[in-house]
Amino acid sequence: MNNQDNNANNSQGRFTLVATPIGNLEDITYRAVRVLSECDYIICEDTRVTSRLLERYSIKKSLHVFHANSTDREIDNVLDMLSRGLNLCYVSDAGTPTISDPGVLIVNKIREQLPDCIIESLPGPSAVTMAYSLSGATGNSFTFYGFMPHKKGRETMITEILESGMTGIVYESVHRVEKLLEQFLSAENKLEIKREYVICRELSKMFEEIVIGDIHKVIEYFKLNQDKIRGEFVIVIK
Ligand code: SAM
Repeated sequence: MNNQDNNANNSQGRFTLVATPIGNLEDITYRAVRVLSECDYIICEDTRVTSRLLERYSIKKSLHVFHANSTDREIDNVLDMLSRGLNLCYVSDAGTPTISDPGVLIVNKIREQLPDCIIESLPGPSAVTMAYSLSGATGNSFTFYGFMPHKKGRETMITEILESGMTGIVYESVHRVEKLLEQFLSAENKLEIKREYVICRELSKMFEEIVIGDIHKVIEYFKLNQDKIRGEFVIVIK
């Protein structure tokens, strides 16, 4: 039975994960705008970020906050609203909720505590899919690693990516991106493996930039262009 059929017999609300833009506010679907306009409440990570999007589309809606550090009380509040038949949308700050973003906890709690509640996901932007589509990687498969661990496990993950022989995609913060590239260089030397790197910066934004090359070339580029170590990064290891 699909979600639409099932809803007719269900007194519980619907929980909808809505993908939102990763930069350019025009990157949102008609369906997302309609569903956000029609729901009872929007649950978001940061009201300031979501308010900007809602203003752009003239959507007036009350916001409730749920983020990675939310308490059980806030989860219970969401469960309570759903069991009272309210329709809720969940958005993260950018892109697809639950992709390196909060949301998964709430999805699992709803499945566990309100098994009849309909959970749906509206497809839309995500930095990982945009980076893959730009990368020119062939082979139709990739492994997404999300954010690299900061310390423990970081070297192991780098080795795993290089040794796998497959395309790997990682998210990395601007503060650690140069260090990460240096770590890939050391690992390449140690393992005698060479890969091509696609550094995707500020995707869909005004200063979007794609830097492609072997590890020496991409390191050199950012050494010479320190002003480009800014914004958000996805790294594709082809
Ligand atoms: N849920 C989001 C998605 O679907 O892509 C990811 C959220 S995660 C907290 C944020 C990370 O995603 C950033 O640190 C960066 O690695 C990547 N990211 C998000 N937006 C980006 C953009 N416009 N350009 C490049 N990377 C981006």
